[in-house]
Amino acid sequence: MKNNSFDEIREKIDESEKIAVAAHVNPDGDAVSSCCGMALALEKKGKKVSVFLEDFSDKFDMIPYAEKILGKAENDDFDLFIALDCGDKERLGESKGLAEKVFTVNIDHHISNTGFGELNFVDAEASSASEIVYRLLDGWCEMDAEIACAIYTGIIFDTACFKHSSTTPLTMSIAGELMKYGIPFTEIQEKLFYSHTFVEARLLAAAIKNTSLECGGRLAVSNLSIEEIELNGGTSKDVDAIVSYIKNTTGVDAAAFFYEKRKGEIKASMRSNEAVNVSEIAVKFGGGGHVRASGCTLYGGFEEVMPKLVDELKKALEG
Ligand code: 5GP
Ligand code: MN
Repeated sequence: MKNNSFDEIREKIDESEKIAVAAHVNPDGDAVSSCCGMALALEKKGKKVSVFLEDFSDKFDMIPYAEKILGKAENDDFDLFIALDCGDKERLGESKGLAEKVFTVNIDHHISNTGFGELNFVDAEASSASEIVYRLLDGWCEMDAEIACAIYTGIIFDTACFKHSSTTPLTMSIAGELMKYGIPFTEIQEKLFYSHTFVEARLLAAAIKNTSLECGGRLAVSNLSIEEIELNGGTSKDVDAIVSYIKNTTGVDAAAFFYEKRKGEIKASMRSNEAVNVSEIAVKFGGGGHVRASGCTLYGGFEEVMPKLVDELKKALEG
């Protein structure tokens, strides 16, 4: 797939009035932040903007514009649809219809992106969709404290505070530029990476109890049933940090965490280091993501679906 230029995308935005923006289902920090940064910039340009996202974690409420995000589009009466941080149409969830009916600009950094837009800009080397939004805005829309805060939040979320290998000198220089706008970076980091609710801590404890090590300690596998999640007073929004935690076990090269969204529907999250490309494995199961962080949804019970994915991970680790 060939990328369109930023100028082509800017021109299309400039000539549109009513613009819808959305990102992937189960929105993470980059999904929410890239949508907020883009929406604030579009408003600044005098556009009528609507952002549609599924329900997301309260952690992201501090991102400027987050309070204006809507749930589901009621119609497709838009001149333009901008999809951010989303690898394919299906992952837009309720906003899939927008991509089918409205002229679509697809801006993303997932290696598995299908190029579903009329205009596409996909950079799998970019740290985050938010970083690409910055590059699109640079020289075309004046930066301000709110846009800077949103974009910075997306970058630090997807790089885990500049830790992941997706962090580049460009990422750091963009973050440096954004800091000039006086963003509350200590608070943002605290909120995203250091604070957790008691329910999240209890679910982490339950997941750790369920963790087993395979492949001589190189693979960590855990799961939580819907009953375990509910018994601890949580929902699927409270389990996002678990897979990285178990991945951080000394000696572990890859981790898989499975949780039930509802009976018969299991979400799998995978994390790895350079030993395994977990995106390839997720794609085999109809999912996708990045080389070192990916996911998919599996249908059936744990006993049935877990071994299938775990076997692929074992093959990749041992192969
Ligand atoms: P997480 O494990 O945190 O849900 O997701 C890790 C990465 O994989 C994210 O970039 C996310 O967008 C992607 N991902 C997770 N689940 C799926 C899925 O079912 N399909 C696709 N295409 N990507 C996914
Ligand atoms: Mn992202």
